[in-house]
Amino acid sequence: MQTAEELKAKLESTQRRLEALTAEVARNDEKLRHSQRRQLRLLQAPDLVSLFDEMTDGLRDSYGLECVSVVLCDPGHDVRHLLTTMRTNSRESKLHLVESLSGFAPQYVALRRPWLGAYAACDHQMIFGNATNIASVAMIPLRHQGDLIGSINLGSADGDRFERRLASDFLAQLGVIASFAIENAVNRARLRRSGFTDVLTGWHNRRYLLARIKEELARARRDRSNLVCLMLDIDHFKRINDTWGHAAGDAVLRELAHRIESQVRASDIAARYGGEEFVILLPNTDSAAGRNLAERIRRTVAATPIDMPAAGAVDVTVSIGISEAMPDVSANDFKTLGDALIARADVALYVAKAAGRDRVAAEAAA
Ligand code: GH3
Ligand code: MG
Ligand code: MG
Repeated sequence: MQTAEELKAKLESTQRRLEALTAEVARNDEKLRHSQRRQLRLLQAPDLVSLFDEMTDGLRDSYGLECVSVVLCDPGHDVRHLLTTMRTNSRESKLHLVESLSGFAPQYVALRRPWLGAYAACDHQMIFGNATNIASVAMIPLRHQGDLIGSINLGSADGDRFERRLASDFLAQLGVIASFAIENAVNRARLRRSGFTDVLTGWHNRRYLLARIKEELARARRDRSNLVCLMLDIDHFKRINDTWGHAAGDAVLRELAHRIESQVRASDIAARYGGEEFVILLPNTDSAAGRNLAERIRRTVAATPIDMPAAGAVDVTVSIGISEAMPDVSANDFKTLGDALIARADVALYVAKAAGRDRVAAEAAA
């Protein structure tokens, strides 16, 4: 028979265990919700850039880690190309696009489940770049159609945070969701690119330019910076077609696009606007710099005749019209502003043509 005291003590002990368990369940519940929110953010990332930002800095901040990096196998440089057509920031040290995983970290040889363990410089230095102060590591495999394509790497300053015996179901699930989110974002970016690319030159097309010009005007307003627009048209292009045929004309277009490309910065936006018209947007550029670039392009084109298999060398020149805009703080109709910016460059182009071609003309000052 238990005494009343014993019963009371037992009851109290049960009560304490119940409270502890309730607290643990609540913690797990919170953890689960937290984890689900993270997964949702990955799935909802609007594009590849945001997705990789979520997968690196987003996870790092959310889990209070020292460093999070992503290693992704990109043998055809496909993902890299998709990313370079977007905004870039300082992602480089956190996103590693590699041609092959072997040699990048020994864990890749057999990374079927998340690998948890102590940080070892010889094994993990490459995946974490120059991050210091990492004591334990979780490498979460990323897969595409069953094949290992990389990993999300969580680095913690706490040596006990990721230790071998820890349950890793949460992490495995994160890897499944992240793999899916990458595949989805890559497909969407490919689709976007195909609809925004000119097949002859590989440049952006008019549709892309019209979408992008609005973004650039919004950015110019935000940064209080000047946006320059160059409209470039080949002089007497019809003659080239008429004399040597359309295939030769196409070859000239391709060569010109190539020559112009060599003169513009990665941050400039170059598009084939129409048949033999190109538009180049120069963000954060003043009038003088815009004019200099236009002159440089004009000279580069005129300097060397274009070699054509059937026709020998053909002299080609271009005329360029320049307009610019620095939207004031109240501006919000960027579609109208964009259309006007292009129309003014077109007027300036007409002035250059009328003045004899092979020249640059800027819009008259407002
Ligand atoms: P201008 O100096 O006034 O610009 O003279 P132009 O002959 O260049 O002007 P126009 O606009 O009359 O002619 C443009 C020509 O470009 C007409 C068109 O057949 C040709 N063209 C447009 N797109 C293509 C293309 O994709 N390939 C080829 N080969 N020709 C094209
Ligand atoms: Mg034309
Ligand atoms: Mg022309």
